[in-house]
Amino acid sequence: ARLANQIAAGEVVERPASVVKELVENSLDAGASKIVVDIEKGGAKRIRISDNGCGIRKEELTLALSRHATSKIKDLTDLEAIASLGFRGEALASISSVARLTMTSKPENQESAWQAYAQGRDMEVTIQPAAHPNGTTIEVNDLFFNTPARRKFLRTEKTEFSHIDEVIRRIALARFDVSFVLTHNGKMIRSYRAAANMDQNAKRVGQVCGQKFIENALTIDCQHEGLHLWGWIAKPEFYRAQNDLCYSYVNGRMMRDKLINHGIRQAYAELIPSDGYPAFVLYLELDHKEVDVNVHPAKHEVRFHQGRYVHDFIYSVCHQALQSDLA
Ligand code: ADP
Ligand code: MG
Repeated sequence: ARLANQIAAGEVVERPASVVKELVENSLDAGASKIVVDIEKGGAKRIRISDNGCGIRKEELTLALSRHATSKIKDLTDLEAIASLGFRGEALASISSVARLTMTSKPENQESAWQAYAQGRDMEVTIQPAAHPNGTTIEVNDLFFNTPARRKFLRTEKTEFSHIDEVIRRIALARFDVSFVLTHNGKMIRSYRAAANMDQNAKRVGQVCGQKFIENALTIDCQHEGLHLWGWIAKPEFYRAQNDLCYSYVNGRMMRDKLINHGIRQAYAELIPSDGYPAFVLYLELDHKEVDVNVHPAKHEVRFHQGRYVHDFIYSVCHQALQSDLA
């Protein structure tokens, strides 16, 4: 079992940041409103994620650590309209095959907390009583301790942490309603309070993307025939030398989608130098049935059923906003 999980881990667990992404997404799927991420030594030594979500029942702890166990898809028709972030049931099993993982959890209506961990070649799960408030903590120690070749590929502590920081930034922009805390080696690095209105959302965008960005941004909010695009795009004079401030979300999922990026870049094409990049934080919302998210395990790509239509919508909304700013 361990070997099969390690092979699967090759796809899901590339580096500490990918572990953080999977675990934070699980916390979000569990309905958490507060997520604390504690990192030690760039994540190579420890990644600990605590949430106040729905928790996992004692009887289900073992199952949650096994492969293809997901509580999120009940039947095949669900696959068509996936609203939750995780659905493959691979992350926990994969991570625990390449690290020392413990999971401690307490659902609100369960009297006490329980802790589970899997070990050995057969990934036998042991559970024991524990102390924990409502919610879940997952601790991942010594990532890749048993796959030395992969461990060797980890970069410096600073580089690995910066990837984790980026994951948290992207997720913080996806979920304004959730508060996030990120620490590294015991030091507070980020703290985003839950936001409840557009002003507070904009404030978080300023925290994540810099004050300069939000002060130089145009607000977007446009709905047309089932498509809704909203967010912030930088005025053309605030172009960047790198494409490092490009955040786009489709139905709440962070995406690096060529089609979306192209639509935006085309809107800017005549307004910024050819070696400059636009900056944006944009949210596209459309019917779940209009997108296919099951394209890649890392889930950064989507397939739109009406790609051209989506592209042209994004282009024209951005173009219009830029033009009316120039006027
Ligand atoms: P997936 O997210 O694809 O379902 P995972 O391996 O990431 O698969 O998680 C397996 C299962 O463990 C989830 O379906 C969920 O039921 C449970 N789980 C994982 N993390 C949490 C959490 N933080 N809170 C509550 N349940 C969780
Ligand atoms: Mg998951």
